[in-house]
Amino acid sequence: MKFATKAIHAGVTPDPSTGAVMTPIYQTSTYAQAAPGDHKGYEYARTQNPTRHALEANLAALENGVDGICFGSGMAAMDAILKLLNAGDEVVATNDLYGGSYRIITKIYERFGLKGHFVPMYDAARVEQYLTKNTKLLWIETPTNPMLNIVDIEAICKMAREKGILTCVDNTFASPYLQNPLDLGADMVVHSATKYLGGHSDTVLGAVVVKEQELADRLHFIQNASGGVPGPMDCFLVLRGIKTLHLRVQRACESAEKIANYLKSHPKAHHVYYPGFTDHPGHAVAKKQMRHFGGMVSFDLENDTFENAKKILSKTEIFTLAESLGGVESLIGHPASMTHASIPKEERMKVGLTDSLIRLSIGVEDVEDLISDLERAFTFL
Ligand SMILES: *Cc1c(COP(=O)(O)O)cnc(C)c1O
Repeated sequence: MKFATKAIHAGVTPDPSTGAVMTPIYQTSTYAQAAPGDHKGYEYARTQNPTRHALEANLAALENGVDGICFGSGMAAMDAILKLLNAGDEVVATNDLYGGSYRIITKIYERFGLKGHFVPMYDAARVEQYLTKNTKLLWIETPTNPMLNIVDIEAICKMAREKGILTCVDNTFASPYLQNPLDLGADMVVHSATKYLGGHSDTVLGAVVVKEQELADRLHFIQNASGGVPGPMDCFLVLRGIKTLHLRVQRACESAEKIANYLKSHPKAHHVYYPGFTDHPGHAVAKKQMRHFGGMVSFDLENDTFENAKKILSKTEIFTLAESLGGVESLIGHPASMTHASIPKEERMKVGLTDSLIRLSIGVEDVEDLISDLERAFTFL
């Protein structure tokens, strides 16, 4: 099956008890047993839930994995992955990664004896120098948030595999419609389904999809043992969102390309970060591993001050000033004070995350209206 067909049908069959075409929201915590141990495969809803199972099977199909494991948020999914490790193990992660991913490693897991290293991964050959005998997990984010740098998944996963190091790719920004890390050699792919998969900014959910059954079993064990599961209503919303994933992401990509070009020619915009530009350092790799360049564009201002960024951020009318991304509506955000506020300023500046950096998540509105909205906001500078 090809992508759009899988998005709509994988994991979803008419409900066996009623024939309901759409997977029902199984809002129950427990299931009746005919006799002790004699049940229909469902005992207790932390362990098994049919709505969640449908979503997990659907996500496994979209990412070409053997199984999906869903959690209450993207961070809960990452938390479960980190629980595969032991005290003394080291994680090597992309240096401009999602702020929450940096935070969970440094503020929580380092207290339990894990060590995190945050390194540039744009040159795959140079990642090797950061690996030690204790490195057990390579954490890749691409395109990165918010700088939209590109990491060569295939090259890094190949090197990690030779050394027996697990790899996980945070595929939130690309979505499975644009990029399938498991096909490029990754062991795990993680999603904040809150973003493109859900697609309507109405729920929070996370998922891991894996290539090998052994890893799936370990993650299902952690899912049940730690209990960070999503509720059935949230699973239903993400399943419904996925049915239009290909349409939404395609449209967002087309509009993002136009908006990136508009910004590039604007005299008050300074750097414009968009992997679709042929002079973007990761362009060739993006072209190789992604089907399109994504719906995110970041830029900073000629006159790089937070005050100037604020003028734009507070003057758009269609772009809503809010955290998050990947919904049908366009959002505008200020990483330095919002999503990345937990990263120290020196760390931010090293990767170009300046005080005036603005991040756009392009939705599926008419692109002409989005460009006029930015045009109007620029007049306040
Ligand atoms: C939002 C996000 C997360 C965290 O997901 P939640 O669902 O908010 O917990 C992780 N990685 C990336 C790239 C994100 O954008």
